[in-house]
This record gives sequence, structure tokens and C-alpha cells, in this order.
Amino acid sequence: MRACDVLVIGGGPAGSTAGHLLARAGRDVVVLERERFPRFHIGESLLPANMPLLERLGVRAALDDADCVTKFGARIVAATGTPSVRIRFADGLLPCPPSALQVVRATFDEILLRACARSGADVLEKHAATHAKRDPNGWTVRVRGGERETEIRARYLVDASGRETFLATSRRTKQMAQKHRRVAVYAHFSGVPRDPGPDAGDVLLAVRRDGWLWVIPLANRTTSIGLVVQGNALRQFDRTPQDAFEHALKHTPALADRTRDATRISPVHVTSNYSYESGSAARDGALAIGDALAFLDPVFSTGVWLAMGGAETASAALDQCLAEPAKAKVTLATWSAAQAQTNRYYWRLIESFYTPEFIDLLLQPSDVPLFRSLVPALNSVFAGVGPGTFGLQARLRLFEMLQTFHRRFNLQPRLDLGSIFDP
Ligand SMILES: Cc1cc2nc3c(=O)[nH]c(=O)nc-3n(C[C@H](O)[C@H](O)[C@H](O)COP(=O)(O)OP(=O)(O)OC[C@H]3O[C@@H](n4cnc5c(N)ncnc54)[C@H](O)[C@@H]3O)c2cc1C
Repeated sequence: MRACDVLVIGGGPAGSTAGHLLARAGRDVVVLERERFPRFHIGESLLPANMPLLERLGVRAALDDADCVTKFGARIVAATGTPSVRIRFADGLLPCPPSALQVVRATFDEILLRACARSGADVLEKHAATHAKRDPNGWTVRVRGGERETEIRARYLVDASGRETFLATSRRTKQMAQKHRRVAVYAHFSGVPRDPGPDAGDVLLAVRRDGWLWVIPLANRTTSIGLVVQGNALRQFDRTPQDAFEHALKHTPALADRTRDATRISPVHVTSNYSYESGSAARDGALAIGDALAFLDPVFSTGVWLAMGGAETASAALDQCLAEPAKAKVTLATWSAAQAQTNRYYWRLIESFYTPEFIDLLLQPSDVPLFRSLVPALNSVFAGVGPGTFGLQARLRLFEMLQTFHRRFNLQPRLDLGSIFDP
């Protein structure tokens, strides 16, 4: 039976990063991926905070060759057309690279997985983990590759199986976020014009009362367009997700000039009820990273960064556990607590984003100096800067207080964003 130090289930950004860094540290690591890459995946807008890690993995040149689009920020606009605000990563409160990339995930994930294999990890595509059993010395995982079933022994297990949530599903610890039952509908298009100049690569978000749309410029003049809508709004209007998507594309004034001559060049994909948490990040010598640990919401484009950043810290923790087994419990508990803190930070921001007060104040920034001091903090949040410093946290708390005041005293005009289903 094949035995290794660490078995990673899933070869997406989380799994390939973990496999890569553990192999580079000299550990014997196997990465199982049930698909053969390249394969389609959603999650195309990366964050500046992720760029140094891409450098460390040595994949920047390959990404440049793949014609990834550079983004310097985001434009967030009321779906009615005005007002709008431009987020510029370079104007953040905390140091961070000034730009990030928009990527075709089929290409991006393949580049990461090939780099993982080159670093010495044993990458097995078309191999799916089907069952995992724990004993005092580690894990035995049943693996299906084509017609064959085998078993692999590992000292530690990393669940990077994405929304499949391999471990949480078998342990029944997955908790859906009841308040955040949203549906995303998305496809690739050609014929979508871009802003002139350096803003051409920015992501555009058009916000409604009950949902929002994204426009992400990709390589080869392809554009990803997606709709996120509340599940109960869909039901109330008795629409299928695809109907709602087509309706929104026709009836969003802020996107009218972009979608007028757009041609859909991919199937329409739907992801429903996507927000959940899987429970503790580390338990019984098994770690969950990326979407296998939690998926919150795509609005801040944090998914790939949380997956890869979590994988980097997980591999450092596992390397330490293998070097000093006596301290493994504490090492993993500390790592797990840090993951929980990061998730709490983003949950709070996401809950805030989905209130009308957040959007009113974000899209209508006041000239009052107190408010202006918050803008760099918001730029940093959109760049993917994590829970980090006191200065950032204090400004975010202040922004929350302003939202509370606005709820009672109308600090700015109340925006009428309309519904996705407005004619
Ligand atoms: C609508 C939507 C929009 C999004 N937009 C963004 C965005 O703009 N920016 C962003 O950063 N993120 C975005 N995300 C999130 C992003 O897609 C994910 O967070 C990211 O892909 C997580 O990476 P991962 O490696 O954890 O999982 P994945 O990328 O899903 O990789 C998991 C891999 O595990 C494999 N696997 C599963 N089960 C098994 C098994 N049993 N055995 C072997 N292999 C297995 C799968 O085949 C897959 O390749 C979005 C998500 C949604 C739903």
C-alpha cells in the first residue's frame, strides 16, 4: 500500500498550493484530483493580497503567458446607473500590491497543479477519494482511479475537495448559512466592451436591492458575467435561475452598453445555496482548507485567496507537526483558531455588505473628513487584506457605526436600487 506523510484530497487552488509547499519542504505528499485538468471552474477574480503567494509558487511567468487580465480595482455601481464608486487597490490603508489578475480558472488551476507536480508532489488526476478512516497512526483513504480501487495511508489528511466538502459531509458537520441562501447564475460572453485605459481590467459590480451582477474581463476578449440573487426573491417571482439571469441582463441600466451586443459563448451555470461552514478546521489529524472549510460569499472575491492563503499556513503547520509530533496538537489548534478568526472577519463584512446602509454609504461617500478616512480602509478590504491591524479594524467598526446612524438619521439619501425583477 502506498504510504505518505500527507494526502491531499482535491487539486484546486487550495490542494495544489498545499501539495506544492509540502513537497517543497521535503515531505512525501500525494494529491488526488478526481478530474483531468484543465476543467471549468468559477472564481475568476483574484485579489492583490494573493499576488505575493503566486510569486512564491513561481507561477507568475506562466500566468503572464496565459494573457491574464490585470485589474487595478473595482467599480461598484447602482444597477440603475448612478451613483457609482471606484475602488483602487493602490490607495489602500495597508501595504498591498496595487493590482491583481482576472483568470480563466481552467488555465489558472492547471498552471498551479502542474507547478505542484514539478515541486515533487505525487499528483494523481482522475483519482477520487471515496472513503477515509482514522486510526491512532493516521488515515487510510480509499481511492478510485478508473476501474481500480486502491488504498493510501497517510500520517495527515488535507481536505481540499472544495464544495464537495469530503470530510464535513461524511462527518455531517456541514452547516448551511440559512440567512444567506443565494443563487448564482453565470456564463462567458464575447462582444462586451471594456472601459478605456488602465481601468479596462477592473471588475464591475452592479447592485440591486435583492442581488447583484458581476462583469469580469478575461483573456481573449472573453467576459464573465454573473448574477447573484436571493433564493426567496427567485421563488417569490416564480422564476428559474436562467430566466432571472436573462431578465437581469436585459433590464440592468448600468450594464446596458456592455450587454447590448454580447453573445453567450458558454453554457449557463448555476450554483445554489452556496454559503456554508464545515466546522473545526483541524480535527483528528485532518485539516480542511479552501471551500472544503467554508464558503461565505463571492462578493469580495475572497474565495481563491482564502483557499491558497489557508493552504500555505496549513502546509507550514503540517510541516511543523511532522518535525515535532509532540507539539502537533497545539500547532493545529493554533492554526485552526486563526482560520476561524479569518472567517469571522469576512462573515461580518459580508453581512454588512448586504444591508442597504452599507451600499448607501459606499456609493455616496461623504466629504466629511471622518468619512474620507474610511475610504482607504475599504480599498484594503477589497484588496483582500485580512483581519490584520488595529487601524483597519477600528475604521471598519467606525464604518459599522455610521451605518447604524444612517439607519436612524439618514446621513445620506436613501438609494432606490430596484429589484432584479423590475421590468
Ligand atoms: C458564484 C461564485 C463566484 C465566485 N467568484 C469568485 C471570485 O471572483 N474570486 C474568487 O477568488 N473566488 C470566487 N469564488 C470562490 C471560488 O470559486 C472558490 O473559493 C475556490 O475555487 C476554492 O478553491 P478550492 O481549491 O478550495 O476548491 P475547488 O477550486 O473547488 O477545487 C476542489 C477540487 O477538488 C476536487 N475534488 C472534489 N472531491 C474530490 C474527491 N473526492 N477526490 C478527489 N478530488 C476531489 C474537485 O474536482 C476540484 O478540482 C466564487 C464562487 C462562486 C460559487
